[in-house]
Amino acid sequence: MREDSDKCSRCGAQIIWDSKSLTVECEYCGKKNLFYNNFLKIQAINLIQNKVRRKYLLGSIICFSFLLFFVVSRNNARGPIVSGMRIINKQEPDNYGIKESTIRQEKIRGEYGRYISFIGRSKNRYEGTVAENFWGGYSTIPGGTEVGMFKYMLDCEDKTFDRKGDKINAAALIMKGWSDVSNDLTASYASEYYCPRITRFKKKIDLK
Ligand SMILES: [Zn+2]
Repeated sequence: MREDSDKCSRCGAQIIWDSKSLTVECEYCGKKNLFYNNFLKIQAINLIQNKVRRKYLLGSIICFSFLLFFVVSRNNARGPIVSGMRIINKQEPDNYGIKESTIRQEKIRGEYGRYISFIGRSKNRYEGTVAENFWGGYSTIPGGTEVGMFKYMLDCEDKTFDRKGDKINAAALIMKGWSDVSNDLTASYASEYYCPRITRFKKKIDLK
């Protein structure tokens, strides 16, 4: 192939190639001079650059997707399930948990969709108390904190819960009633995580 020249092949005048056209007309004699080799070279360079650019673009898209996935999965990271119990607190994995297989929609006042029940583990702080003892005297039973499994009933609308078996005091004669989910880590987790998904859970069939 003839080497591209910067001089007109007919009159010898200088030709300035615009570095994109295949032919350039001579300003003096009008002869169309071919810049075939240069043209091909430029096309080849562009092609390679585009390929590199495409590679970079693809690379950045993949990197970005991984980053996004990482961030999203970290935000949505839930604790592991240990012997059937969803761990809901990293700091105290042994004190808080929810048995997800026990979550049920409860029918209250003839309707489903507002209440859920489940077995959960949580801490219960109870007060000390004075009780009459066997010999007719009085003895003090100290207060404390117990970690136990409770049967929860949760009102997804009011964001309140009731735990069966959470004693108010050491005598364990009175149980606590309904209280705001913010008072209990297990209840607040359930309210935040399971209430928006309430329809996914089985309905508890009442046998009455
Ligand atoms: Zn010319």
